[in-house]
Amino acid sequence: MRIAMIGTGYVGLVSGACFADFGHSVCCIDKDEAKIDGLNAGKMPIWEPGLEALVKANAERGRLRFSKELADGVSDAEAVFIAVGTPARRGDGHADLTFVFQAVRELAKVIRPGTVVVTKSTVPVGTGDEIERILREEGVNDVSVASNPEFLREGAAIADFKHPDRIVVGAEDDRAQEVLKEIYRPLFLNRAPILFTGRRTAELTKYAANAFLAVKISFINEIANLCEAVDADVQDVARGIGLDNRIGPKFLHAGPGYGGSCFPKDTLALLQTADSAGVDQRIVRTTVEVNDERKASMVERVSSALGGELSGKRVAVLGLAFKPNTDDMRDAPSIPLVNALIERGAEVSAFDPVATEQAEKVFSNIEFASDAYQAAAGADALVIVTEWDEFRALDLDKIAQSLRGKVLVDLRNVYDRQEAAEAGLAYFGIGRGKLALS
Ligand code: NAD
Repeated sequence: MRIAMIGTGYVGLVSGACFADFGHSVCCIDKDEAKIDGLNAGKMPIWEPGLEALVKANAERGRLRFSKELADGVSDAEAVFIAVGTPARRGDGHADLTFVFQAVRELAKVIRPGTVVVTKSTVPVGTGDEIERILREEGVNDVSVASNPEFLREGAAIADFKHPDRIVVGAEDDRAQEVLKEIYRPLFLNRAPILFTGRRTAELTKYAANAFLAVKISFINEIANLCEAVDADVQDVARGIGLDNRIGPKFLHAGPGYGGSCFPKDTLALLQTADSAGVDQRIVRTTVEVNDERKASMVERVSSALGGELSGKRVAVLGLAFKPNTDDMRDAPSIPLVNALIERGAEVSAFDPVATEQAEKVFSNIEFASDAYQAAAGADALVIVTEWDEFRALDLDKIAQSLRGKVLVDLRNVYDRQEAAEAGLAYFGIGRGKLALS
């Protein structure tokens, strides 16, 4: 199959490289010229495990190419995927579809009759209908518009793409179904479940999935608060409920609140869709509130661990990316925490294994260390914000020696109180009994 991928970001680049690896001929297009120049020179615009090797291998085989010109890839494509950003619109939280509709108007000028246009971007219900309308307005009548929401997780994106829990295809005609079946054939052969639905249903399925996961996270975060009040351990509660197949163990890790480029904006967009439809979504609305408060409250944990005063304190922050194995800083829980620490008069030294370059664009007033021990040097407290594997195996004795104050605030429950105590550190975890906050 000849595929054009419009938008070469986290989703477009991974999807394009994986489709090429399936044997398709893929042209990834982006209007960010530096990104395309970089890719053509073998430089990855994002940090994602395994991506560079996959891109290089498929580029060398001639199955994957990169272009700034939409016409390059679209004019002979059998399927055109749209994988541009759909950020939250400032002010109201609606999904901003400017990039999607702009891409549609651009592709309308060069698309061949019979092509299938597929939205991979996360878009509100009805966007496919609007795309069809725009195409018609631009004089393009013989195309199919399908929805194929993407469920990959950054940090495990290639594995997720190649071994998905499911593939959702929302199509209104046989041609779109057949083309997408052909594109995903290698996964079909691997028995990955492919769910064919109506287009609007597929669009909503993506939001429902992300909203549900956000609910799960906020739920366990509230249970963690209760554990702190009644002297129970949220780690054990999570395991105790997660072993129930009806609940499942994933997304039950208490922490500093969810962030990233998807959950915050997608929950807001779902609420906007619900509002427009006149249907209240109380659970999701509350989840958003719970999460906003949670992220904002993390500074209090650091403050109380330091005796209630942050001014003049030096705080070492480990992990800035919104989760491990990515350099994505979008809506990362580290952002409100670090900003609040600075506002309250603390100095911050931080270390992230790969996100420093991205973090430098976000924070202008912190020191970036070259490893965890350097970050800890002379600090009054060490705060684990993102649970990178390398932070799971810190030499706590060495950390304790580097620190000025002997305080470990573990927002990801990577360590336990006893091992911290053995290194001479006061331990403040999340939801781990009454002592967690004392
Ligand atoms: P991104 O910001 O990393 O990439 C989007 C790219 O599209 C950018 O490089 C931008 O320059 C490009 N672009 C915008 N308009 C363009 C146009 N008209 N022509 C060509 N290129 C254009 O975004 P992302 O994280 O890859 O997300 C893309 C979509 O996928 C979003 O809707 C997001 O919600 C969804 N999604 C993201 C993830 C994730 O983990 N990042 C997972 C599932 C779904």
